[in-house]
Amino acid sequence: MNKIVMKFGGTSVAGTEKLKNIAKIVKSQLKNNKLIVILSAMAGETNKLQSYLDEFQEQNSIESDLVLTSGEQVTIGLLSVALKNLGVKSIPLLGWQVPILTDENYEKAKILNIDKKRIKEYFLNYDVIVLAGFQGINLTGKITSLGRGGSDTTAVAIASAIDAERCDIYTDVDGVFTTDPNIESNAKKISKLSYEEMLEMSSTGAKVLHTRSVELAMKNNLTLQVLSSITNKTGTFIVDEKELIEKEIVSGVSYSNNEAKVSISGILDKPGISAKIFGLMAENNINVDMIVQNISQDGISANMTFTINQKDYDLTKTVIENSKKLFDYKSLSLDKKVAKISVIGMGMMSQAGVAEKMFKTLAKNSINILAISTSEIKISVLIDKKHTNIAVKTLHEVYNL
Ligand code: ASP
Ligand code: MG
Repeated sequence: MNKIVMKFGGTSVAGTEKLKNIAKIVKSQLKNNKLIVILSAMAGETNKLQSYLDEFQEQNSIESDLVLTSGEQVTIGLLSVALKNLGVKSIPLLGWQVPILTDENYEKAKILNIDKKRIKEYFLNYDVIVLAGFQGINLTGKITSLGRGGSDTTAVAIASAIDAERCDIYTDVDGVFTTDPNIESNAKKISKLSYEEMLEMSSTGAKVLHTRSVELAMKNNLTLQVLSSITNKTGTFIVDEKELIEKEIVSGVSYSNNEAKVSISGILDKPGISAKIFGLMAENNINVDMIVQNISQDGISANMTFTINQKDYDLTKTVIENSKKLFDYKSLSLDKKVAKISVIGMGMMSQAGVAEKMFKTLAKNSINILAISTSEIKISVLIDKKHTNIAVKTLHEVYNL
């Protein structure tokens, strides 16, 4: 008997017709297998719940997680009904019924333990467990959630815990693409990607998988497949680097419009100033991404530019405006009209000239680079948002994607 984990995202479960279709897909995978099917809430549902909470300015609490996780209860119940109607022995379970034990951090809980014994017991009487994604229970018996998009992480954690044969993540696209097909219609489905590449893609804007789920899969060496719940085609496999026959120099181009640029000019050019600025950001839980410092002409003062997530725009502004006592500066400006464009590929590690090609391509299109950051397998540039489409399209072309 093989155990297979199948996860369906919000767009795949939005409505009873879609749920009936999923019941058929699930039944087709049954054969001699036992299945755990993890579901999200219907698309838009968790956003709606979030907006109720926003009206109360309620967050990170017992109540907020109780509300946020309620959408999944509906979908697992309905899918289990659809399965029963097809003659499949199925049981719907909420996170606490497994239980999926987490820490106390409401809205960003980490999984501590999953009770495999219970799952085995359920499999004695049922062929399919339909499990609510995104949720768990903490040591004091309160419902917790794993953070938005967290049902991918539930799927990977369950698959690792029960040593599943496969972990298939069903979505509304055929897999992971070389870039966003909405911008570049020539974007192609990638057949295999390393965990590292997928992580870079997720963190630079490709919204396919919850970043934590990829980290967890990498840690447990669990192969993931991202595939469509509509087309029944083979998807994209996320695998260990060793399983890539050919390491692409560039596997994909991603972009993010969620960045904001922060420029502080006229700071003192002396030791300790960066430590103060970024210490301040860390204290306030503001994630900083790209950083550029340049020395001004007089050799005495300097300018610091960095990027943050747009959601931290107001907080960053207030924090720096109130920090004049800590470090002096001439002016502060923040800009949301920026985009981060990234090229990602394992082959970059052993190949020179990848960055040059990127910069030349942007220059040819008169696109100014505001900041640069790199890792071993990624180059990101910050540009004016209005150039996003042309940058993505031309880079997709020059790297022969
Ligand atoms: N329903 C949750 C959300 O929208 C979890 C998920 O879909 O992964 O964030
Ligand atoms: Mg998702």
